[in-house]
Amino acid sequence: MDAAALQALIRDIPDFPKEGIIFKDVSPLLQEPKALAAAVVAMAEPFRSHGIDRVLGIESRGFLFAVPIAIELGAGMGLVRKPGKLPYDTHSVSYDLEYGSDAIEMQIDTVLPGQRVLVVDDLLATGGTAAAAVELVERAGGEVVGASFLIELSFLDGVSKLANAGDLHFVMRY
Ligand code: AMP
Repeated sequence: MDAAALQALIRDIPDFPKEGIIFKDVSPLLQEPKALAAAVVAMAEPFRSHGIDRVLGIESRGFLFAVPIAIELGAGMGLVRKPGKLPYDTHSVSYDLEYGSDAIEMQIDTVLPGQRVLVVDDLLATGGTAAAAVELVERAGGEVVGASFLIELSFLDGVSKLANAGDLHFVMRY
């Protein structure tokens, strides 16, 4: 399945979660076995020879893709979550979201010093969330080798916030 076939399985939901936002719903793609497999392979492919130790999934749809990508790459997976969800000691970084502002956290031993990290989420919008995830990795002493997203909303220019995130990869663009 090519990127255009995958893109046909993204459903636009206008005015969700608030007016003016067109929410990109990945559920139809997740429900289609061949599309799900193709999306995971497409997100992992450019990073096969990058020596990735950890694939970080950003809550919550990033988790869905980070686990199978980690298996594809022979890497471990780590959780980046909203505040107060993770037990144990955490690093925390605040950021601006397309709709509102928030913070994200990661356990202090999810990434060990020197580890090579791939950041994964379903969608890059303003880039605030992914940039905060990059900062979490830096606080832990890891190296962000790249970031992989199913979808880029290129008109929001999230890429400009990810100058220190290594190789950026998107399966599809709007
Ligand atoms: P941002 O920090 O602005 O790049 O926002 C990225 C995060 O918010 C990702 O975890 C996305 O899942 C979610 N997100 C932002 N905008 C949208 C959208 N239009 N459709 C679906 N998810 C979105």
